[in-house]
Amino acid sequence: MCGIVGYTGDESAAPIILEGLSKLEYRGYDSAGMAVFNDKIQKIEIVKEKGRLQGLIEKTNAGNAMMGCCGIGHTRWATHGIPSQKNAHPHFSDDKMVVAVHNGIIENFHELKEYLQNKGYEFYSETDTETVTKLIDYYYKKTEHNPLESLSKALIRVRGSYALGIMFSDRPGVIYAARKDSPLIVGKNDGGKFIASDVPAILSRTRNVYYIDNMEMVELSGEEIKFYNIDGEEITKEQVTINWDAQSAEKGGYEHFMMKEIHEQPKVVKDTLQAFLKDGQIDLKDVGLNEEMMKSLKKLYIIACGSAYHVGVTAKYVIEDLTDVMVEVDLASEFRYRDPKIPEDSLVVIISQSGETADSLAALRMVKEKEINTLGIVNVVGSSIAREADYTMYTIAGPEIAVATTKAYSAQLICIYLLAIYMGRVKGSLEEKVCQDMLQEMMTLPDKIEKILTDKDRIQWFANKFASAKDMFFIGRGLDYAICLEGSLKMKEISYVHSEAYAAGELKHGTISLIEDGTLVVGLMTQTSLGEKTLSNMVEVKSRGAYLMGVTEYGNYNIENTVNFVVYVPKTDAHFTSSLAIIPLQLLGYYISVARGVDVDKPRNLAKSVTVE
Ligand code: GLU
Repeated sequence: MCGIVGYTGDESAAPIILEGLSKLEYRGYDSAGMAVFNDKIQKIEIVKEKGRLQGLIEKTNAGNAMMGCCGIGHTRWATHGIPSQKNAHPHFSDDKMVVAVHNGIIENFHELKEYLQNKGYEFYSETDTETVTKLIDYYYKKTEHNPLESLSKALIRVRGSYALGIMFSDRPGVIYAARKDSPLIVGKNDGGKFIASDVPAILSRTRNVYYIDNMEMVELSGEEIKFYNIDGEEITKEQVTINWDAQSAEKGGYEHFMMKEIHEQPKVVKDTLQAFLKDGQIDLKDVGLNEEMMKSLKKLYIIACGSAYHVGVTAKYVIEDLTDVMVEVDLASEFRYRDPKIPEDSLVVIISQSGETADSLAALRMVKEKEINTLGIVNVVGSSIAREADYTMYTIAGPEIAVATTKAYSAQLICIYLLAIYMGRVKGSLEEKVCQDMLQEMMTLPDKIEKILTDKDRIQWFANKFASAKDMFFIGRGLDYAICLEGSLKMKEISYVHSEAYAAGELKHGTISLIEDGTLVVGLMTQTSLGEKTLSNMVEVKSRGAYLMGVTEYGNYNIENTVNFVVYVPKTDAHFTSSLAIIPLQLLGYYISVARGVDVDKPRNLAKSVTVE
């Protein structure tokens, strides 16, 4: 999920790799490492460090201490195992015959690890990457050192996502690479060949690249680049010339990180979902939650800040509807300063992207003092909340760079749905068949999000009309209200438009007096049972001059009789609509921000990770 750079050619590899990794630093990472084939001793040397790339630069004297013209390097964003020197990449087989760097997640690594342990392999790290490295080693030895055959045999057994850079100690000067669902490119210039997880890493050295597709392998030597399919058959690939500048290359061609991250949501939703599914069932063994504890659970507290708090509001509706558990949602900054009476059979869930949010961390510590079980839903492996909570569910969102969250929020929602379904099944309020149907439906969410994203031009057109708006209101009921909270926050954060989210039924209790001619009111109407009531509220504000935007499901075309501009989202199980209906609202906030000339990724006065009270 973070960075890979590899080089083989005429020049010293380590400085090139370090330079390339430094171009990927903006993504965030927790450790870095490098492997270079030393021709003198005919061995692969490996150096890795926890923390900043600077540590690796100092340790290797800016790469000059690592002799050799062929190497691979990595910046790690931990998904399996805490950030540490041991878990940092490159990983290697016991005799260092196979050395590999990896981005992504090997979903069946437990199973593969067990298989290898039965064959006598021992493991030194907690990573999934060490397992795939040793699996390749196993087949390398079995195939009498045939690199392509061993790679293809190993990768066919792997479930999950990978971009891999691999070196074999008896093949000096050659790098192998392969990918599935994690990006990987190959580049070349007169002096050498490169692999990289992304264009910016090599842009200062070449603009000539090849995009590696899923289930393809590459062999790079000083002389040539050869491409293969997963069966080991040679294929041809077209060279592409990159004509972006370095800045837009970092953003994957998008104008802003926020837009890039909005587009990453289908993948993030899929990855997070798959991280907790085994054989089609929810598996929270790695989280540590067990059925016994869940059975006795009476009350759930969700404590968070900002968008994570809005995930909590969604959670209240979803979990209370699917289980017999009572849910309380609290802002961490409030919760920590009151004296909440938490019954013994409770679980306190702390949601935080960074895992370092000061108020959430303080709330977690306060709860732990009361000896109540805690679960962290966190994106950053090894962060304070992840370490200190009794249980941790990791969202698989990868590094999020834009200050306003989009993909981490979407990943947190998935964890909440999974938790709700799991609790419902264990506690007997949901039948097996219903759980299965819901999981099936969850699997369709990535495609449905993708479909909404194709409607972005229309939303951009609408956003331009309202770019000079002073006030906006988002209204909805039930889960639609939870979505409003997040949509309204996006608007405030990145476009500086004053905006409020209201439970639609509350309008009459005061807010309606704020409606003037032309005020934009966005109504969320995805909940069939409540949509009509919200629509009536829309009529009320329209008659007081409001301009109406509606978000509803395909099929509800009659709302066009009332609402001026409608965005449709695909139908889904009512519990999951937050995952779809938030997308147009993210886009609306984004486009209004762009139209107003605001710094979308770094809005004023805000920080990505709020580590102070
Ligand atoms: N899953 C691997 C790990 O945790 C790779 C992480 C990455 O993509 O940086 O080490």
